[in-house]
Amino acid sequence: MLLKETKEQLIPTLKKYFGYDSFRDQQQNIIESVLLKNDNLVIMPTGGGKSICFQLPALLFDGITLVISPLIALMKDQVDGLNANGIAADFFNSSQESAEQEAIFEKVFKKEIKLFYVAPESLQLLENILNEKYVSCVAIDEAHCISSWGHDFRPSYQQLGFLKKSLPNTPIIALTATADKATRADILEQLSITNATQFLSSFDRKNIELEVRPANDRLTQIIKFINRKPNESGIIYCLSRKSTEQIASKLKLNGINAKAYHAGLSFEERTKTQEDFIFDKTQVVCATIAFGMGIDKSNVRWVIHYNMPKNIEGYYQEIGRCGRDGLKANALLFHSYSDVIQLKKFMSGASNEEVQAAKLDRMKQFSEATTCRRKILLSYFGELLSENCGNCDVCKNPPQFFNGTIIAQKALSVITRLKEAEAIGTVIDVLRGALNATILDKGYDKLKSHGVGKEISWRDWQQYLIQLTNQGYCEIAFHKNNALQLTSFSKKVLFENEVVNLTRPIEFKEQPVIEKATKTKKAKKDTLFERLRKLRQEIALAENIPAYLVFSDAALKEMERARPMSEADFLEISGVGQRKLEVYGEDFIAEIVAFSNEKIKTRKKKDTHKITYDLYKEGLDIDEIAKKRNLKSTTIFSHLALLYTEGKDIEIYDFVSNEEVEKVRKSKDELESPQALKPYFEHLNGEVEYFKIRLALTIIDKEG
Ligand code: ADP
Ligand code: ZN
Repeated sequence: MLLKETKEQLIPTLKKYFGYDSFRDQQQNIIESVLLKNDNLVIMPTGGGKSICFQLPALLFDGITLVISPLIALMKDQVDGLNANGIAADFFNSSQESAEQEAIFEKVFKKEIKLFYVAPESLQLLENILNEKYVSCVAIDEAHCISSWGHDFRPSYQQLGFLKKSLPNTPIIALTATADKATRADILEQLSITNATQFLSSFDRKNIELEVRPANDRLTQIIKFINRKPNESGIIYCLSRKSTEQIASKLKLNGINAKAYHAGLSFEERTKTQEDFIFDKTQVVCATIAFGMGIDKSNVRWVIHYNMPKNIEGYYQEIGRCGRDGLKANALLFHSYSDVIQLKKFMSGASNEEVQAAKLDRMKQFSEATTCRRKILLSYFGELLSENCGNCDVCKNPPQFFNGTIIAQKALSVITRLKEAEAIGTVIDVLRGALNATILDKGYDKLKSHGVGKEISWRDWQQYLIQLTNQGYCEIAFHKNNALQLTSFSKKVLFENEVVNLTRPIEFKEQPVIEKATKTKKAKKDTLFERLRKLRQEIALAENIPAYLVFSDAALKEMERARPMSEADFLEISGVGQRKLEVYGEDFIAEIVAFSNEKIKTRKKKDTHKITYDLYKEGLDIDEIAKKRNLKSTTIFSHLALLYTEGKDIEIYDFVSNEEVEKVRKSKDELESPQALKPYFEHLNGEVEYFKIRLALTIIDKEG
C-alpha cells in the first residue's frame, strides 16, 4: 500500500506541474503502482495520456527516471514540454559535444534533473549512471518496438533486456499503444518483467469523429474539407512518396500551406518539415506512415487517409494523432478498391501473407460497414461498446436499405455474359452501355445486356458492386486481374429470385466553399480564442518552443469560456500549473481583460443609440434628449443619422428641409464628394448648419 501522505500528494502534484485537476481513467492506479516499485506494462491508445504515468512519479522519486524513447529528434520536444511545466529534464544524444554530455552527467549525479531521455542506442555510453544510486525508475516508451511482432520493430530495442539485470530493484514501466497479445507477451519476456502489473485502458477516443467516404475526386473533397477548417493542423497519409508530393503541391496551388514528408527526403528536409508542423508554421503535412510517431503535438485537429491503411492497428494509431487535447477532431478515410488491390499486391509473397491479408480484410470490413464504425474498431481491440457511438458517419447518417434485387440481377447477368473475365471497371462500362475502345474491340457492345443499367450512374454502380461483393453475391479474383466472378449465392439471385437488400449510395452535397471559408475566417478573427491563439503564437516564437507547449487548444478554449481575470481564477483553468501561471499568467489575463473591455465598449456604443431612439420615440425633442442624456445635441443628431441609415423610423425631414438637401446634393457634385463637412459649409457660405449638412448627406447616401 502506498503511504497515505504520498497518495495525498498526487493530485496537488498533478495540478502544480501539469495544471490538471484530475487523472484520466487508469492514470492514478498506474502511478501508484510505479511508486510502489512494481514493474508495469501500460497499454493505452495514442493520446490517452501515457506520459504522465511516468512523469508524475518521477517528481516524487529521489533519483532520476530514465526514459527510453526511440526518436532522438523528438526528445527535445518532450524535454521542452517538461521544462515549460517547471520540471527539470534533459536528454542525451550521441551527437552532443562531450563537454555538454559531461555537464548533463553532472546534473544526474547531483540529482538536479528528474527525467533523463535517451535513445536505446546510447545506453551503452551511459554505464556510469546506470546505477541504482542515481536511477529510481526506468520508463520505456513505444515499448512495442522491442517486438518483431509489432509493426515498428527496432533492433536497438532488443538490448533493453539487460536493464533489469543492471538495475534489479528499479521499477520498469513499459508503455505502448499496441495491444495485441503476442506483442504484449514479447515485451514482458524480453524486458524480463514477466510479473509486471498490466494496465489495459479503454481504446475509445470519443472525441475523434470517424468518417469513411468513397474515393472519388479525393483531392476536391480534401480541399473543401480543409477550407472549412482554416488554421487547423492536419495530416494526410498516403501510400506512396510520389502521391505525398503531388497532393502537397496541388494543395499549395489552392492556397493551402502544405508540405510533403517521406523517407526519400533528406534528414534535414524531414526535420524541417516536422518542426514547421509542430511549430504551427505548416498547416498540413502529406506523409507516408513514416510521419507522426512520437509527435506529441496536441492540437492536430484532423487526419485524412488518402489511401486505405494496411490494417486496423496502423489506422487507429494514425488517427490517434489528432485530438490529443480531447477537443473535437476528425478522422476521414477514403476507401477505394484499387487501394485494396494495390495492398494485396504489396503483400503477395511475404512470409506472413495470410496474416496480412486477414488484417487487410478487417480493414476493408471497417471501411464498408453499415453499422457503427467505432463498435467495429473497438471490437477489433477486444473492447465491446454497448451503445452506438453517435460520432461516426454511420451513426449520424444511417444507411437506408431498399430492395435491390433487380440491380443485383442486372450486375450478375453482365458478369455472366462477360464470362467472369472482366474487372469492375469494364463491368460497369457494359452495364452503362459505354462505347469506348475496349468495349468495341472486344465486341461487348453486341452483348444482350450491354446498357441494361444505363439509368444508374458510374459511381453508384461502383458502390452497388462493392456491396454485392461484401454480401457474397460475387467476388473479386485477385489473382486473375481482379476479375469479378460469380459465387454459389449468385444463382439464387439470378434464378430463384432471392431478395437482395442494398443501401443507397452516399452523396456528398458539399456547400460552395470559398464564401463559407472566408466567412468563418472573418468570424474567427474577433473571438477571444483567436486573440489568445495569437498571443500564444507570439510567446512560442519568442521562446522557440511549439505553441501547444505554451498552452493546449483545450486550455485556450477554457480560458475563452471562463474568462479568468485574476491569478486565482487563471490557475483554475485545466492545463495551467504553477510555472505557467507565473510565466504566462499576466499576459493572458491582460489579453482577456482587454478583450472583455472592448466588448463592453462596443456594447455600450450600441446601447447609446438605442437610448436616444427610445427617447425620440417618446416624443422628446433634440434639446430635451441632449439634456437628459448629458450629451451635445450634435451627438444626438449623429445618433439620429445612424438610426435613419439603419432604417429606423426617424422623421428626418423634421430637421432638414428638402431645399437644404438639394443644396447639399449640388455641392456634393461640384466638390466631388469630399469626406469632411467643412468644404460643404464653406461652399454654401455658412448658410446650412453643420448638423443639417450631415443629415442631408445621410439622406443622399441612403438614396444611393
Ligand atoms: P500518449 O503518450 O498516451 O499518446 P500524452 O501523454 O501525450 O498521450 O497525452 C495526451 C494529451 O493529454 C496531452 O496533451 C496531455 O497533456 C493530456 N493529458 C494527459 N493526462 C491528462 C489529464 N489527467 N487531464 C487532462 N489532460 C491530460
Ligand atoms: Zn458510431
